[in-house]
Amino acid sequence: MYKDIAKLAEQFKDIEPDFEEKMHKYLKKSGALFNDTVDLVVKNNLDSMVDYIATLMRVNPVHVPVLFKSFYQHVEEYFDSKEAQQIVSLVAFFLGRTPFDTMAIYTLLSYTEFQHDGYFNVVGGMYKIIEGFLEELAKENVKIHYNIEIVDYISNGKRIESVIDKNGKQWSANTILINADAAVFRHTIMKHKNYTLEKMDKKSWTMGFLTFYIGLKCKLPQVNHHNYYLGSNFKEYADKVLSDNNTMEKPYYYVNVVSKYNEDCAPKGCESLFFVCPVPNLLNKKDWDDRDAIVDSIIEDFSNRIGKDIAPEIISRTIHTPIEWGEQYNLHRGSGLGLSHTFTQIGAMRPANVDERFKNLFYVGASTVPGAGLPMAMISSKLAFERIEKYFKK
Ligand SMILES: Cc1cc2nc3c(=O)[nH]c(=O)nc-3n(C[C@H](O)[C@H](O)[C@H](O)COP(=O)(O)OP(=O)(O)OC[C@H]3O[C@@H](n4cnc5c(N)ncnc54)[C@H](O)[C@@H]3O)c2cc1C
Repeated sequence: MYKDIAKLAEQFKDIEPDFEEKMHKYLKKSGALFNDTVDLVVKNNLDSMVDYIATLMRVNPVHVPVLFKSFYQHVEEYFDSKEAQQIVSLVAFFLGRTPFDTMAIYTLLSYTEFQHDGYFNVVGGMYKIIEGFLEELAKENVKIHYNIEIVDYISNGKRIESVIDKNGKQWSANTILINADAAVFRHTIMKHKNYTLEKMDKKSWTMGFLTFYIGLKCKLPQVNHHNYYLGSNFKEYADKVLSDNNTMEKPYYYVNVVSKYNEDCAPKGCESLFFVCPVPNLLNKKDWDDRDAIVDSIIEDFSNRIGKDIAPEIISRTIHTPIEWGEQYNLHRGSGLGLSHTFTQIGAMRPANVDERFKNLFYVGASTVPGAGLPMAMISSKLAFERIEKYFKK
């Protein structure tokens, strides 16, 4: 990964002198944040607020200041140019908020991004991971029932006994693990008093995502695998993107040329593109009738930036707004990553991975501990497993 930083430094040589040195200094701090918290706080089940505070007190106190500043403020301390600050802090958008309202503790992500593991290209595309899981589960004789939506439950007052699907079928078990959004499930199915609609709307949710998948009947050799397209109003845009529909006039977006290094993701001579654009969730933009107009404007902007009009080359186009994401995955108000990572929604203050009422009901995924995004959801499965194991040992 160090090689990539040298490459980045080359691009930044006129904009941010000594970029490489500054980046190493920044990553040293991000690495320390990662190493000092990941096992202790992130990969650890916390049983109560007292346990949480006691755990935090064991973290090296040199890190205390990152709890009180934003991701961007922290990055500003290491880099002088706006360009470097923006590039390094962009990753906060992948946590579903902006660099200006994400806590500096999450600069540990820069370490994972640039140094620790970096990004992997999954040969054949991301879905190969699912296929791999399915193969492993088949070896253990795990049976998967698809297209089952849970809408209710039965309990004996002390323990949950079964969940009920949309067709009225009961699914009984001695323990139940829920992968639906942990806050949404408590609201819609469990109807817990701390999860009324009013209370749900008052929580801090991540932004929505407008995504679209474009098939082209030509290749785009001039475009990289990963590409960010930003405007010149980063701070203003970030301030507005969670709530203001006007950001849609000139959106920032990311493009992945999926078929660049995975040739079987598109027919020969064709290209498969995936666009992601951070947008307000459905609390702030309910109406998506303008989806086609927004997508057209992004395609036009992209064409201008790469010097080729791709509109006549398009052979397939699929658009998902926060409406589709919300409906398909039961996400509250179409919020892409579930609950955000504000100070009061992390650690012991995030919805727990064990139910408050039934001790044999467990939760896994983005809106329970430790947090949102695929790596965190994977850690969440380990934490949920440990909880269940402990439950059986009692
Ligand atoms: C557009 C977009 C881009 C993203 N990009 C990234 C990225 O680059 N990197 C990253 O790390 N993360 C990314 N994320 C976030 C990441 O996808 C999520 O944080 C992660 O998938 C959450 O995993 P999960 O297991 O909690 O939930 P999910 O993957 O949503 O799985 C929950 C499952 O439960 C099902 N379900 C819900 N309710 C019920 C019910 N009542 N009955 C039965 N089943 C139910 C849902 O249909 C779904 O299949 C992105 C998210 C979006 C929307």
